[in-house]
Amino acid sequence: MPAWLQSKIKCFYCGRASKYNKNDQIRSFQCASCEGTNYLDKVGTPCMTMKLGIC
Ligand SMILES: [Zn+2]
Repeated sequence: MPAWLQSKIKCFYCGRASKYNKNDQIRSFQCASCEGTNYLDKVGTPCMTMKLGIC
């Protein structure tokens, strides 16, 4: 698998790759496939919502 594909952030809920890159350092995005709102930790890993205090 190409390295650029591996660096794409996957949706926490459906597992689909988003258009966002881990290097973008975004903290949240809405999945285009399932419309779930993803929250990311500081290294770009999808995690549970901030409301749960897990991020
Ligand atoms: Zn999704």
